[in-house]
Amino acid sequence: MSRVIIIGCGGVASVAIHKCCQLDDVFTDLCIASRTVFKCDKIKDDLKGKTKTNITTCQIDASDFDALCKLFKEYKPEIVMNLGMPYYNLIIMDACLECNCHYLDTAAYEPMDVDEPVWRKRYEKRVKEVGFTAYFDYSYQYEYREKFEKKGLIALLGCGFDPGVTQAYVAYAKKHEFDRIDTLDILDCNGGDHGYAFATNFNPEINLREVSSDGAYYEDGKWHSVPALSIHQKYNFDGVGEKDMYLLHHEEIESIALNLPEIKRIRFYMTFGESYIRHMKCLENVGLLRTDPIDFEGHKIIPIQFLKALLPDPASLGERTVGKTNIGCIFTGVKDGKEKKYYIYNMCDHQESYLEVNSQAVSYTTGVPAMCGALMILKGYWNTPGARTVEEYNPDPFIEALDKYGLPKTETYDPVMVD
Ligand code: NDP
Repeated sequence: MSRVIIIGCGGVASVAIHKCCQLDDVFTDLCIASRTVFKCDKIKDDLKGKTKTNITTCQIDASDFDALCKLFKEYKPEIVMNLGMPYYNLIIMDACLECNCHYLDTAAYEPMDVDEPVWRKRYEKRVKEVGFTAYFDYSYQYEYREKFEKKGLIALLGCGFDPGVTQAYVAYAKKHEFDRIDTLDILDCNGGDHGYAFATNFNPEINLREVSSDGAYYEDGKWHSVPALSIHQKYNFDGVGEKDMYLLHHEEIESIALNLPEIKRIRFYMTFGESYIRHMKCLENVGLLRTDPIDFEGHKIIPIQFLKALLPDPASLGERTVGKTNIGCIFTGVKDGKEKKYYIYNMCDHQESYLEVNSQAVSYTTGVPAMCGALMILKGYWNTPGARTVEEYNPDPFIEALDKYGLPKTETYDPVMVD
C-alpha cells in the first residue's frame, strides 16, 4: 500500500502514471497534481476500469510552497514524483522536507530566469572556476543531502533515462564488468520520425536550452567546454542505423565524475537530424530561444515560452512517431588485469510505446525509470537517505525492474568505439 503524488501531467508524467497503474498492488493511491487539471482528469478517465489504483487529481502551482505543503499534508504521500519542470525542484524538495516525504525528479535544477542577479552571480563564479556553462548543475540539489539524511528521507535526483538509467549502467558496469573504468561515452540516439519539420520530443524549453548551450566533456579531472554542436560524428546504432550525433553537456557527467573518481574521460552524445539543427539555429538567430522577459504590446513575454506554445506538445507526438530510440553507455577499462570494452544499451520502439501507454518512446524511456525509481524506494531496495543520484544505489534491482517493465538491456563486448 503506497500513496504517491505525481507533479506534472505532460509526456513523461503520463507514462509514469500509466506504469504506476500497471503495478496497482504497489501504487495503490495516486494523486496527479498539475497546472492544467483537465489533463490530469483526462488520464484518470482513460485509466478507468484498467487499474485498481485509486486516482485523484488536483490543480497545483508547483512554484507555491504553501500550496504544495497543504497538498502533501492532506494527501500524506510516501513519495512525491516531480515530473514537471526542473525550475521547481528546490521548492518541491523543501515541501517534501517540511512534510516528511521522499522526493524524485528526472532533471537537475535550473532556474526559469537565468538573469536573476543572485543566481547569475553564483552561475558566473561556477563557469569561471569549474568550467562548464550549462544553466543546470547539481550543486543546488546536493546542498539538500544532509537535510534529507537527517530526516531519514531520500531525494532521488535525475531518475529518467539520461540522467537516470545511464548512471545505473555505470554502477552495473563497475559492479559486474570492471575493476576499473577508464572511459565512458553515453550515446543517446532518437531514430524516431514524427513527420513535423520541427518538434521536440520532450519539454521544448528544457530541450532547446540544453541543445543550444555550449557542449562540455570531462577529461583528466577537468571540464572542457566547446561551442554548441561543434563536435559531431556519425555512429551506426543497433535497431536504428547510421545517425549524426553531437557532443553535449549533460548533468550525469557531473555526478559520475564525482562518484567514480578513477574515470579519465566522460562524454555525452545525442543524435539530431539536419532539419532539427537548421530550425534550432534559425530560432536562436531570431531571438526565440531567449529566456529573459521582453515587452510585447504592453505585456511581458518570455520568447522561449511563447515558442513552446507554438510547437507541438511532446505528449501529442506518440501516434505519429515511428522508429526506435537507442540509449546506452560504452565503457573501456580493466578487469582481472586485462583491458576490456563493454556496451550496454536499451532500444525502445515509438509505436510499441504508443500502443502500450499512448506515448512516444522519449517519454516512455523517461517515465518507466521514474516509476522504477519510486518502486525501489517504496519497496525498500534503496534505503540510504540523502539527496543522491542513481549511481549511488545498488543497480541490480533497478535494472531487473527495467528489464521487466519495458526497458530491457542489450549488452555487447565488442562495440564499435566512438573514435
Ligand atoms: P512537458 O512539458 O510535457 O510536461 C511538463 C508538465 O509540467 C506539464 O504538465 C505542465 O503543465 C507541468 N507544469 C509546468 N509548470 C508547472 C507549474 N508551475 N505547476 C505545476 N505544473 C507545472 O514535459 P516532459 O514531460 O517532456 O518533461 C518533464 C521533465 O522530464 C522535464 O524536466 C524534462 O527535462 C525531463 N526529462 C528527462 C529526461 C531524462 O531522461 N532524464 C528525458 C526527457 C525529459 P501544463 O500541462 O499546464 O503545461
